[in-house]
Amino acid sequence: MRFDSVLTTCPFCGTGCNLFLEVMDNEVLGVSPVKWHPISRGKLCILGRNAHKFIQHPDRLTAPLKRVGNRFERISWEQALDEIAEKITRLRSESGPDALGFFSSAKCTNEENYLMMKLARGVIGTNNVDHCARLCHSSTVTGLAASFGAGAMTNSIPEIPETSCMLVTGSNPTSQHPIIAGWMLEAKERGACLIVIDPRKIPLSQHADLFLQLRPGTNIALFNGMARVILDKGLVNDDFVEARTEGIDELKAKLKDYDLDAVSRITGVERELIEKAAVMYASSPSAMIFYAMGITQHVTGTDNVKAVANLALLTGNVGRPSTGVNPLRGQNNVQGACDMGALPNVLTGYRPVTDSQARLEYARLWGCGDLPDRPGLTIVEMSSAALRGELRGLVIMGENPAVTDPDLNHVKEALSRLDLLVVIDIFMTETAQLADYVLPAATFAEKEGTFTNTDRRVQRVRKAVDPPGEAKADWEILCSLAKALGSKSFEYNSPEEIMNEIRQLTPSYRGITYERLDGGESLQWPCPDENHPGTPYLHAESFPRGKGRFYGVDYVASPEEPDDDYPMILTTGRVPYHWHGGSITRRIDTLNAEIPTGFVDINPDDAAKLGLKDGDVVKVSSRRGSISIKVKVSSEVKPGVIFIPMHFSECAANVLTDHKVLDPYSKIPGFKVCAVRIEKG
Ligand code: SF4
Repeated sequence: MRFDSVLTTCPFCGTGCNLFLEVMDNEVLGVSPVKWHPISRGKLCILGRNAHKFIQHPDRLTAPLKRVGNRFERISWEQALDEIAEKITRLRSESGPDALGFFSSAKCTNEENYLMMKLARGVIGTNNVDHCARLCHSSTVTGLAASFGAGAMTNSIPEIPETSCMLVTGSNPTSQHPIIAGWMLEAKERGACLIVIDPRKIPLSQHADLFLQLRPGTNIALFNGMARVILDKGLVNDDFVEARTEGIDELKAKLKDYDLDAVSRITGVERELIEKAAVMYASSPSAMIFYAMGITQHVTGTDNVKAVANLALLTGNVGRPSTGVNPLRGQNNVQGACDMGALPNVLTGYRPVTDSQARLEYARLWGCGDLPDRPGLTIVEMSSAALRGELRGLVIMGENPAVTDPDLNHVKEALSRLDLLVVIDIFMTETAQLADYVLPAATFAEKEGTFTNTDRRVQRVRKAVDPPGEAKADWEILCSLAKALGSKSFEYNSPEEIMNEIRQLTPSYRGITYERLDGGESLQWPCPDENHPGTPYLHAESFPRGKGRFYGVDYVASPEEPDDDYPMILTTGRVPYHWHGGSITRRIDTLNAEIPTGFVDINPDDAAKLGLKDGDVVKVSSRRGSISIKVKVSSEVKPGVIFIPMHFSECAANVLTDHKVLDPYSKIPGFKVCAVRIEKG
């Protein structure tokens, strides 16, 4: 018998806790926490503690599959890759490279996201490559890049206990980032004040000094109201604004329209509370803003992010320890997948595809011709292009859009129209069931690589066991596919070799080597050379864009305001115990037993009006479709608002959400505000 303890990174949320996989004879038997890790400090949340329980699950895919009529047939890797390459080549020659799309994944490693992007651009010649950050934090990338010049968390998790104020908005950390919530509660015990702004009563609101329960979709009005108070009460950090920012006059002009009575009417929050929150935030010696999808998943997502960045710039709460604007990423490698250029408009390190010098550097290293220079399609746009017949082939790695993308009837119709759908995954997901070819992938425990967590920390993923059957790591699958397509530039022996290529092209990752990571260093980008210690907080001396930029952004009513036909607002989200499309956590018995299926939270007043009680089944309908779902009467939501978690395919919240109206900058859909009607089932 052979025992081993393999240090690796948790595959679930973006906190990036480290854990040991306890291995006996090629089987992962358990998980242990890592006492010395700078973030997890010997703790793991319930997801991390169960991270081993899906690795040897009997549902794992173990061989390549090909659709034959209504069923799948097992085929060899050679046949699968040859046939897929032949079909891709044919589609490309018939309809051009932009007839193909590549859907990468924040669940996969940096190296795998880099290869997916390289395959799309360098082998096929299209910028149609995107990943699930489009649906969660693409507005963070566009918003923070516009305000500061870098679309990433400005500060670090270990700085939290030293802050004097935390403003948490659109984030439910005790549920979705429990280890970060622990850091926040520690700061609270040490005397920091806590402001929670959320449409739902969340567990953290019980600890808050101020809780502002706003109407869904009114974030900009609230943040503008707070900015107006800061200006009117003379709480602006004038030295900082003078030396390090631009655009203050634009902001001042805009804020004239945001007196607190108007803001209170729009948001449903009392004016005194808004005033107190603004004063508390602005008068604290250091203040950190934390947010998540509660502000990003809106058709005004980019402006929401700019509006919170305005607060930090006004008060000089950026560029110092224990301050900043800190997006919390839902998946393990959202930050890394963005950094690796698995986005339709940028290469690694956010170098635009329109930059001819950048394209030249990549093409030289990859040994290919000029790369495509026009931004490609986002995920949501790829679905619409498939319906129009313009997108004919799609390769999906580790994603499950048939549960997670907006307007599922539309998504499934789009996927079914493709001439070629290839899905690379570990389980037969709802999306894989629609595929022409399904390729079996390895889990995090069966491969090497790196993930980049929410505070820009690049961490190692290490192989503990072999993948089952013929399953392979995604990086190996992508290399084999590229070679089958005739490429000579995918000759890697290991993910370390891939990372060394990434480092050549990506200045912020240049100093991050496997040797340093394996030697125990905890490196946060930017890390420009091998002697650089990494950067715990950004913008200390200057912003990447020069000066921090204020934006005068306007509150715009949601396109899905309630009306007579659809009188309630649906807001979607997540629950503890489950993760993303549920394909992993719903297969872990201990987690699934806690919340085995979906539910709709309805306020007691609304439930009484509709004659509903806990456990009743209702039909919830939007302009896109209907689902049947169990009622949970809950005062966590206000009257007129309902909440449905996203994880459950049998009552999928995304049947109801819209794919048509998108944020104009990031193209993120508005998952958080959707007009619906409820009828007794
Ligand atoms: Fe894993 Fe996130 Fe839980 Fe940490 S907080 S153990 S990274 S799921």
